[in-house]
Amino acid sequence: MGKFRIKVDLGLCQGHSVCLAEAPELFRVVDTDMAYPQAQVIQENPAPELLSKAEGAAEYCPNGAITIVYEDD
Ligand code: SF4
Repeated sequence: MGKFRIKVDLGLCQGHSVCLAEAPELFRVVDTDMAYPQAQVIQENPAPELLSKAEGAAEYCPNGAITIVYEDD
């Protein structure tokens, strides 16, 4: 398994916290002064073992806000 990064489009994120439920190792959801809480990625370079959890978060995010960037090394 290779390296990857996670990107969250905060313009799409509405704080549903599905990502947090799927992968608490990778996301937190914080209150903001906007209408919604927003997700933050808490690991810049996640261990490859967490890829399936990251993919689950991307798949189940109701707003399609999460992108997995696969990196060759
Ligand atoms: S599941 Fe999607 S919309 Fe919800 S907090 Fe996570 S990134 Fe944002």
